Amino acid sequence: MDKISVIGGGFSGVEAAFALASHGFSVTLFEQKPAKYTPAHSYPGLCELVCSNSFKASRINSAAGLLKAEMKLLGSLTVPVAESCAVPAGGALAVDRKAFSDAITLKIAAHPLITVENYEITEIPDGNVIIATGPLTDGGLAESIQKVLSAAKCTASGAETAGNSGEFLHFFDAAAPIITAESIDMNTAFFGARYGRGEDDYINCPFNEKADYERFINALITAESAPKHEIDRVYEGCMPIEVLAKRGFDAPRFGPLKPVGFTDPVTGRRPYALVQLRKETSEGRLYNIVGFQTNLKFGEQERVFRLIPGLQNAEFARYGVMHRNSFIDSPRLLNADFSLRKDGRIIFAGQISGVEGYMESAASGLIAGISLARKLADKPPLLLPKTTMTGALTAYISDESVKKFEPMGANMGILPPLCEPIKGKQERYQALADRAIADLERIL
Ligand SMILES: Cc1cc2nc3c(=O)[nH]c(=O)nc-3n(C[C@H](O)[C@H](O)[C@H](O)COP(=O)(O)OP(=O)(O)OC[C@H]3O[C@@H](n4cnc5c(N)ncnc54)[C@H](O)[C@@H]3O)c2cc1C
Repeated sequence: MDKISVIGGGFSGVEAAFALASHGFSVTLFEQKPAKYTPAHSYPGLCELVCSNSFKASRINSAAGLLKAEMKLLGSLTVPVAESCAVPAGGALAVDRKAFSDAITLKIAAHPLITVENYEITEIPDGNVIIATGPLTDGGLAESIQKVLSAAKCTASGAETAGNSGEFLHFFDAAAPIITAESIDMNTAFFGARYGRGEDDYINCPFNEKADYERFINALITAESAPKHEIDRVYEGCMPIEVLAKRGFDAPRFGPLKPVGFTDPVTGRRPYALVQLRKETSEGRLYNIVGFQTNLKFGEQERVFRLIPGLQNAEFARYGVMHRNSFIDSPRLLNADFSLRKDGRIIFAGQISGVEGYMESAASGLIAGISLARKLADKPPLLLPKTTMTGALTAYISDESVKKFEPMGANMGILPPLCEPIKGKQERYQALADRAIADLERIL
C-alpha cells in the first residue's frame, strides 16, 4: 500500500490523518512538538489553540455554525470533541483548550491505523504527503516547499505566471492576552451576555465615562510596540487593538469595545464603551480579553490594559503576541481537493493552503484526507457543491480568477445567492444553511 505521511499535528493535520484512517488507510502523523515549538505553540498535545479558545458561533444560520454542521456530516474529529470540551460562551462554541488538545491527542493515539512520530520534518518525504504545518512553517521544510512551489507555479493552462515564482505569501496575525479571574475587580466588572442572550458567560468591564475611555485610547496609541520585524500586512480579522485604535478614536467602540446590549448594574446605564472577557477554561480561572490581540511590549500591555475598569490589578497568565502567518498562492497551485496541480501526491491543508481559522483549517484537512482516501481507493473525487461552506472555501482556494489571494474564513458572502432573494438577514442565512445541508446530504 502507498506510504501516507501527514506533516503537522494541528487542526488540519489531525483531521486529515483521522479521515484517512477512518477510510482504512494507515498513516504516519509527524508532529515536531515537544522537541520543537513554533513561537505561538507551547503545549505538547496535538491540535493546540494558539490564541482565542472560541470556534465562533454554534447556530447553523451563521457561517461558522454552518461550517461546523457540514464538518460533522463529513465525519469530523475536531467538532464533536470540541462539543465535549465546551465551556459556556453564549452562542459560541468555545473550549477548554487543554482538555480539547488532550482529548484529540488520545483519540489519535488510540487509532490503530495512525502512528504518531514526534520529530521535525525538514524535507518533503516520498509517497503521498499532506503538508499541514500551519502558518508558522519554517526551516528546512519551508525551503523544500519553496523549491517544489517554484517548479510548480503554473497556470492551469500550463503557462508560467509572471513575477514571484512560488514564494510563500504572508500577513501578520496576533494573539490576545489571558488574565487570571481572581485578579479582576468584580465590584466594577460584571457578568452578562449582550442583550441578555445566553448565560452570563462573559465578564464585562465598562467604561462608563468618556474621559476614562479617552485616557485608555491615548495610552494605547502611544504605547511602545514590540520590534516589528518586517510587518507590512495585518490580517483584518485579527488586527491588533492598538492598530485599530490608531484608525480612529471611536473605532474600538464600534468594534470589540461595543457597549450595545449592556446595562451596567451599578449605574443602570449603557456604558460608553465596554471590554469583554471570555472564559479560557471551564472552571473559569482564566479569561482572555476579547478582541485584544496586540503587539505591544509585555510591560506596556500591563500598563495600558490595567487602565480598563475592573482590570486595574490584572495578572497576566499570557501576554499577547504577534506572528508572521504564511500561506501559499493556492489559486495558481492547488486543485479543489488541495492537491498540487503539478504533483498530485503532494497536498496542502490548513492555514498554509490559504484558509483562515481553526475550523476552516480543520475542514480543509478533513477534505484533503477524504479526497486522498478516495483517490487511493480508485473512487471518483468528492465534489462538494459550492452552495456548501466547505465547497465554497475549496472553490475559492483553487479559483485562478482570484488574483490577489488573501486567506479566507467561513462567511455567508462566499455562498452563491439564493434563487429567490430573501430580505431579512436571519431568514436569508437560515435559507442558505438549509440549502447547504440539503445539498451536502444529497451528495453524501
Ligand atoms: C499568533 C496566532 C494567532 C492566531 N489566532 C487565531 C484565532 O484566534 N482564531 C483562529 O481561528 N485562528 C487563529 N490563528 C490561525 C491558526 O493558526 C489557525 O486557525 C489554525 O491553528 C491553523 O491550523 P493548521 O492545522 O493549519 O496549523 P497549526 O494548528 O498551527 O498546526 C501546525 C502543526 O504543525 C507542526 N509543525 C510545524 N512544522 C512542522 C515540521 N516541520 N515537522 C513536524 N511538525 C511541524 C506544529 O508544531 C503544529 O502542531 C492564529 C494564528 C497565529 C499564528
